[in-house]
Amino acid sequence: MKKQGIVIGGGAAGLMAAITAVEHGAEVTILEHMPRVGKKILSTGNGKCNMTNLHMTAECYRSGEPEVPMRVIGTFPVEETIRFFRRLGILTTDRNGYVYPASGQAQTVLDALRDQTESLGIRTICESKVNSIEKNKNGKFVVHAEGGTFRGDFVILAAGSMAAKTTGSDGSGYDLAKSLGHKIKKPLPALVQLKCKGDFFKAIAGVRTDVKVSLYTMGKNGERGALLATDQGELQLTDYGISGIPVFQVSRYAAEALDHKKRVLAVVDFMPDYSSEEMFKLLKDQRKYLHDRNAGDFLNGLFNKKLAMLFLKTAWIKADQKVSEIPDRKLAELCDVIKDASFEVTGTNSYDKAQVCMGGVSLREVDAETMESRLVPGLYFAGEILDVDGICGGYNLQWAWSSGHLAGVSAAKNQR
Ligand SMILES: Cc1cc2nc3c(=O)[nH]c(=O)nc-3n(C[C@H](O)[C@H](O)[C@H](O)COP(=O)(O)OP(=O)(O)OC[C@H]3O[C@@H](n4cnc5c(N)ncnc54)[C@H](O)[C@@H]3O)c2cc1C
Repeated sequence: MKKQGIVIGGGAAGLMAAITAVEHGAEVTILEHMPRVGKKILSTGNGKCNMTNLHMTAECYRSGEPEVPMRVIGTFPVEETIRFFRRLGILTTDRNGYVYPASGQAQTVLDALRDQTESLGIRTICESKVNSIEKNKNGKFVVHAEGGTFRGDFVILAAGSMAAKTTGSDGSGYDLAKSLGHKIKKPLPALVQLKCKGDFFKAIAGVRTDVKVSLYTMGKNGERGALLATDQGELQLTDYGISGIPVFQVSRYAAEALDHKKRVLAVVDFMPDYSSEEMFKLLKDQRKYLHDRNAGDFLNGLFNKKLAMLFLKTAWIKADQKVSEIPDRKLAELCDVIKDASFEVTGTNSYDKAQVCMGGVSLREVDAETMESRLVPGLYFAGEILDVDGICGGYNLQWAWSSGHLAGVSAAKNQR
């Protein structure tokens, strides 16, 4: 007789787990509380779905058990992911290692997964929120959901995190795991925008520019403490603070430090390809070239105009003075403003705006060889519900594919 399994959550991890379990001989029902499965997949990569990344290293993942993510990914690596989707009809293409479906549409990835569940005869029950899971004395799981009560030999819990609630992940998966005795590392928004102190943000909102962002802890008197994280890329300035890929990449460290009641400083280098000496020389050259103009035009040609005005204002350089009259001392100050602009981070945007959550089900209580709970035999975990968060670039979906695949194979094969 085939083993009967219940997959809770029809996201990337749950769909992969269900398909894999059935392909390895099990019979599976997916319980999904949204009207349709895979809503989050549709939002990924701005609707293009950055499915994975060819550059896969341990540094791309953060977890309480840092060696685990790559061990799990090693069981179903990037090449296997690409082969899996090719078998489902999806050709992939990569841009600098960032892998997308050749269609350029996340919808085609979801369609391929859904079609595969249908052709494998997987029962998918939507609008069926799981409220509780029990294990009876015969070792069978009894799952109480809004769509009925379901029994199975195994359960794969792939209910996601609390990020982007409108896609279905409302944190109820954590409660289900907790009810079975699992510890949850506090989930916090990650890959998220940062709110900063400063009334000038409104004036520069909408500007995008390449920068290096570094986060530091901040002392009582505003002094810079330990470096938390740093990244380089296109910054997006908003009316409340900073956004864009480099901010997303470091944001989880701000979330964590703020949660520990530490103050956080974001330091932005607006000219990261120039050393301070090179920047100073560049400004001196600029003064030579534009000597007969007004200082208001001094930085035009180097920066977006809104930013240029803010830099001049911050260095107390009057817009109506002559460029030739800006002394070296003021150029040095301007150089500091450009290379070392610091803002206090007051918070992150909410879970709703975050792409993923850090924290989740502790990997200490999950066997990384199988994704099976060490506390409840027959219970498996997959995807973002676990204490793993990847950086931007396809890493979170790869975690969902790999952990989903491993959970599916293990659950179907387990002879217990
Ligand atoms: C805007 C955005 C863009 C992103 N872009 C990328 C990208 O380009 N590349 C990348 O790698 N990652 C990206 N991510 C992250 C990535 O999408 C997620 O990490 C990944 O989809 C998580 O998959 P999952 O299956 O673990 O969770 P989810 O996709 O959240 O799936 C969980 C499912 O469980 C269901 N569920 C929850 N609780 C219950 C319950 N009690 N009963 C029944 N069902 C339940 C939910 O409705 C949901 O369908 C992005 C995320 C967002 C929000």
